[in-house]
Amino acid sequence: MREIVHVQIGQCGNQIGAKFWEVISEEHGIDLKGNYIGDLDHQLERINVYFNEAHDKKYVPRAILVDLEPGTMDSVRGSRIGQIFRPDNFIYGNSGAGNNWAKGHYTEGAELVENVLDIMRNECESCDCLQGFQLTHSLGGGTGSGMGTLIMSKIREEYPDRIMNSFSVVPSPKVSDTVVEPYNATLSIHQLIENTDSTFCIDNEALYDICFRTLKLATPTYGDLNHLVSMTMSGVTTSLRFPGQLNADLRKLAVNMVPFPRLHFFIPGFAPLTSRGSQQYRSLTVPELSQQMFDPRNMMAACDPRHGKYMTVAAIFRGRMSTKEVDEQMLAVQTKNSSQFVEWIPNNVKVAVCDIPPRGLKMSSTFMGNNTAIQELFKRITEQFSAMFRRKAFLHWYTGEGMDEMEFTEAECNTNDLVSEYQQYQDATADLQEEEDEVEESETEPTK
Ligand code: GDP
Repeated sequence: MREIVHVQIGQCGNQIGAKFWEVISEEHGIDLKGNYIGDLDHQLERINVYFNEAHDKKYVPRAILVDLEPGTMDSVRGSRIGQIFRPDNFIYGNSGAGNNWAKGHYTEGAELVENVLDIMRNECESCDCLQGFQLTHSLGGGTGSGMGTLIMSKIREEYPDRIMNSFSVVPSPKVSDTVVEPYNATLSIHQLIENTDSTFCIDNEALYDICFRTLKLATPTYGDLNHLVSMTMSGVTTSLRFPGQLNADLRKLAVNMVPFPRLHFFIPGFAPLTSRGSQQYRSLTVPELSQQMFDPRNMMAACDPRHGKYMTVAAIFRGRMSTKEVDEQMLAVQTKNSSQFVEWIPNNVKVAVCDIPPRGLKMSSTFMGNNTAIQELFKRITEQFSAMFRRKAFLHWYTGEGMDEMEFTEAECNTNDLVSEYQQYQDATADLQEEEDEVEESETEPTK
């Protein structure tokens, strides 16, 4: 048994987390009270990855729900899925973080963090062989962002050899109207670079664009965005939850996807894109799914992969289909677009097929790419950060909680360094000698 402990934190973290549990419970045949009512093969084979089995044969999510104010968690508790969680695993304060990363990370959050770690230890101790942790949160607010990254660093300290995976929602002014979000996000990215092994970048800017442009929703709500998030989260965790060889646990996923430790920010993608409650009239074919999943319009991070290069890719097709056709189609995509894949990692596209489709679809494909174009997302955030930081706007809210300006400068530098590193590998060629020659040539150029 290889268990994952899930933590959801803050408003966004709890909302997308609750959706995730709703969707995967249904896929595994678990009803809203935790009873198994399914009838498909493989539903229970690896149920222990995400669920504990209680004495009364009920399946209970290995989930910890955290917030600095009670509102969102009350509504999760009162929602359809609310009864499935372990009541002791709801941990909340009453102070709120007021969209202030410093409150989440250093003051209010720091007061609550020990309670979270106690519950965490309980969960870890009852695991047979813990593979690691996954955390859902937003980067733009105060709790999920500030306290979320505090929890990560505490877990790292206590479980340094376990994998830390995050589903991080990146802020966009198209969706939210809090001006300090770039501060909170950059301070968080600084932490994620050091403390996660892999991060799925779920970008509200991209989710909004998909809802608006592709799904033709005039005013997308969080419910609409979160529908896309839950499809994606169910997709990228498929290989962890169902039997199969590829990326069967968090460590194998990280080993396949992360060529350099800091460059662990993935672009998720999904096909076909459908809106909430809509009917799919026609199933897509394998060629259509393969093509769409590489389409920039299907990516959940607002960046264009054609501007960068793929270092690694993993794809999961779900539903009944010919594995041979999947392999052929995926090979065709790579051959046709070979310049978009770095030549210095041979066989950098991995594909798996799982015969259980997601709810409401006959077939789907999920994509995760480690592409150097993700730098566009980081650039967008740091540009917004720098515009304010240059004038030290809003800084007093943070220094008022005891933060040092230095930490802002460091976070900015670290993110800028990350952008340069992506650029460096975007420009890298297979032939090291060639690059060295180029450097030498430019060095020996006569100076005037
Ligand atoms: P926290 O409770 O202090 O962690 O703050 P929030 O989670 O509300 O953080 C605010 C950021 O999260 C903003 O960028 C919001 O646009 C985003 N956000 C809040 N709720 C949701 C949600 O349910 N779905 C998505 N996709 N984004 C959300």
